[in-house]
Amino acid sequence: MSPPSNVIDGRALAEQIHGETSRRIVALQAAGVQPGLAFVRVGEDPASQVYVGMKERMSARLGIRSQTQVLPEATSEAELLRLIDLLNADPGVHGILVQAPLPRQIDPTRVYSAVLPQKDVDGFHPTNVGKLMLGDPTGFVPCTPAGVHELLIRSQVTLGGAEVVILGRGNIVGKPLAALLMQKARHANATVTVCHSQTRDLAAHCRRADVLVAAMGVAEFVRADMVKPGAVVVDVGVNRVHDPSAKSGSRLVGDVQFAAVQPVAGKITPNPGGVGPMTIALLMQNTVRAAEQASGRSGSTTDH
Ligand code: NAP
Repeated sequence: MSPPSNVIDGRALAEQIHGETSRRIVALQAAGVQPGLAFVRVGEDPASQVYVGMKERMSARLGIRSQTQVLPEATSEAELLRLIDLLNADPGVHGILVQAPLPRQIDPTRVYSAVLPQKDVDGFHPTNVGKLMLGDPTGFVPCTPAGVHELLIRSQVTLGGAEVVILGRGNIVGKPLAALLMQKARHANATVTVCHSQTRDLAAHCRRADVLVAAMGVAEFVRADMVKPGAVVVDVGVNRVHDPSAKSGSRLVGDVQFAAVQPVAGKITPNPGGVGPMTIALLMQNTVRAAEQASGRSGSTTDH
């Protein structure tokens, strides 16, 4: 059955981007450059295994040569930093992604700062964070907020002058997305409000939003009465909830009550099938741009 018309098909939009990325990879290969991406995973977190597996498969499909370094849970920070040094020095590796979460003994900030900014396709190095704040398009933007931005652009959502409300101020989604959408730039110029656990009357902020982005990690938090009729609703959250009727005893849900909110929303992302595929598409795009930049070819700025 085809999806109702107000549902944004993140998988189809991601496929569009993969098509564009694939053509850039062919051009790189024709010039003798093989894009390379290194994944680093520490420990055996089941969700991290699934995420890295999905990214490995997409790399293989598009023709990006990937390698995955798996380190034991007890790895010290110094050992991980040594591996990052090796990957930084490897000319065949254009992008490095250290999968979160990292074990307790490792400070993620130190690790993200150790990846060379020009190989930091996850966009977590302070140089890239700074470039995002400054509106400098030569940096790498973290893949999930970049994916949300691209999803809005490709769904013809007007951002200029729009009231955007983001639920969540995390470093991975909320904060960088706010920085992206508030820039004085094409496909931005939004008036952005960022809500968090200390926000007073959060529902009232939500009801003002032309674009409401939920990135809190609270299962089905956004109800229909929190959404202005016609608003665009983007659900970033991934939450595992107990479900005795499921074979595994649990299932994944977003931060939005999809069935209740869909009839009120102008456009809405499904979850899964919305932001998730866009995150992977933007990782692939960032990697190809890193390879283009490293080889002195075009692609020196973000792609829109
Ligand atoms: P995070 O760093 O933990 O941030 C969560 C934010 O939500 C915090 O700012 C927190 O407020 C706020 N929050 C939590 N409960 C709240 C409540 N009851 N009321 C108001 N605010 C509340 O999380 P994140 O890394 O940004 O991730 C957010 C969600 O996105 C998670 O579900 C994650 O799994 C998902 N995610 C999805 C993708 C994807 O590809 N689809 C990628 C990355 C993340 P305080 O700051 O006040 O604590």
